[in-house]
Amino acid sequence: MGHTILRGGRVLDIAAGTADYGDILIEDDTIREIGPPGSAAPDGATEISAAGRLLHPGLVNAHTHGNGNLAKGMGDRWTLELLLAAAPWINGNRSTEDKYLSTQLGAVEMVLKGCTACYDLSFEWPLPTAEGLAQAAQAYADVGMRAVVAPMIADRSFYEAIPGLHDALPPPLKESVANLRLPPADTTLAAIRSALHDWPLDREQVRPAVAPTIPHHCSDAFILDCAQLARDFDVGLHSHVAESKVQAVTGIRLYGCTLTAHLDRLGVLGPHFTVAHGVWLDNEDMERLGDHGASVAHNPGSNMRLGSGLADTRAMLERRINLGIGTDGANCADNQNMYEAMRLASFVSKVRGPDWQRWLTTREAALAATEGGARALGFRDRMGRLAPGYKADIVMLDLDHPNWLPFNDPVNQLVHTEDGTAVASVMIGGRLVVDNRRLLTVDLDRLRAGVAAAHERLVAVNADSQRLYETLEPIVGSYCPGLARVPYHVHRYGAQIDW
Ligand SMILES: [Zn+2]
Repeated sequence: MGHTILRGGRVLDIAAGTADYGDILIEDDTIREIGPPGSAAPDGATEISAAGRLLHPGLVNAHTHGNGNLAKGMGDRWTLELLLAAAPWINGNRSTEDKYLSTQLGAVEMVLKGCTACYDLSFEWPLPTAEGLAQAAQAYADVGMRAVVAPMIADRSFYEAIPGLHDALPPPLKESVANLRLPPADTTLAAIRSALHDWPLDREQVRPAVAPTIPHHCSDAFILDCAQLARDFDVGLHSHVAESKVQAVTGIRLYGCTLTAHLDRLGVLGPHFTVAHGVWLDNEDMERLGDHGASVAHNPGSNMRLGSGLADTRAMLERRINLGIGTDGANCADNQNMYEAMRLASFVSKVRGPDWQRWLTTREAALAATEGGARALGFRDRMGRLAPGYKADIVMLDLDHPNWLPFNDPVNQLVHTEDGTAVASVMIGGRLVVDNRRLLTVDLDRLRAGVAAAHERLVAVNADSQRLYETLEPIVGSYCPGLARVPYHVHRYGAQIDW
């Protein structure tokens, strides 16, 4: 690719809180130098004007689900458990083409909204396939985005995973949910092993990982096998841990300890491990995660949308947990806007209590959405910052947009004002993917037509699953909150939140 120089923009340094004018010299996919305006460039370098632009490192979405994009807006008052009960309806009967389309749709939304990399916990019902994963991975590659694609797997169905739920169902429904049983663990693990073995793409752009979906949806043997796979192929592990109070209470009932303590006993925590959500972590859980150098992907929008609670990010940072920020899937978010996620991360910390010194700063939120996410994705010190040696993943915001008038403080405005509408251009790995609001990599008309056709077919073919969900909703919707209606003591530093 050779050399490119971005001239005349204001280069954001989040940690320093500055946005000085400068030129960024890029060689292939990497930033080589950041110099003063008018810096020399090698002969033949491509010059790109960034005048009137704020350049910030591409945002990193630390937790999403590519399969969720075809399901955006399908529900309203869903708890996490109702969402899980709706899964066969909103994710069922997807063809390989649907998997590609759903993932690509999310990737397109993300890059148009300033996000250049994501951790995608990709879901295929009933079983992940090498082909389905390759399609999801290809969708990111075709958009030109970076991603970690982690197949979400388990060996227990939702109805087997929640104590007493199956027994609470009337007999006809027991039969219906019996059809939702998952394939044997060996079949699932063999599929993942072959996908990891034959990974078709450049791992610097799209790499695989493994996502045992929710600890108590997996037998201990299954979690250990997932960890072994991650070790064998040197990839990450990502799991939804202590997302809802139902999960937290279930963990105590099943293991006699918290979910995190259980994972620690199994020996699967480490720097490669990402906890999604962690709303119900206690102090000891956070200490364990911090001591292991693990990450938490904080999803404030999803946590509020599903009524899961408000995670304590200050306590996480104090325990040296690496903090990333995610949108979560569009089936519970319902967008893929990392500016919004960053803003909500800041706001959620501020509604936890009046002790303002414990609130996240905009700097902390912006670092979590860039460097923190990069570390969770396995790109520590190579992504998430505009500095020599880092990937040239650069978002250019239009400083003439009302979001930036006047220009008071770059980090405060990035986190609290920007909503994605000032995104002008996006470069990923030195390649322009969005140029002056135009997506260069994907034919949007074709994507629209594909999504419309998939939508029409999926609505028809999943009608029975929708009816099943509607029958299950009142039962799951009363049983699970009942299970959670017990005191669960979460040690918190700040204000007590009464659950
Ligand atoms: Zn998730």
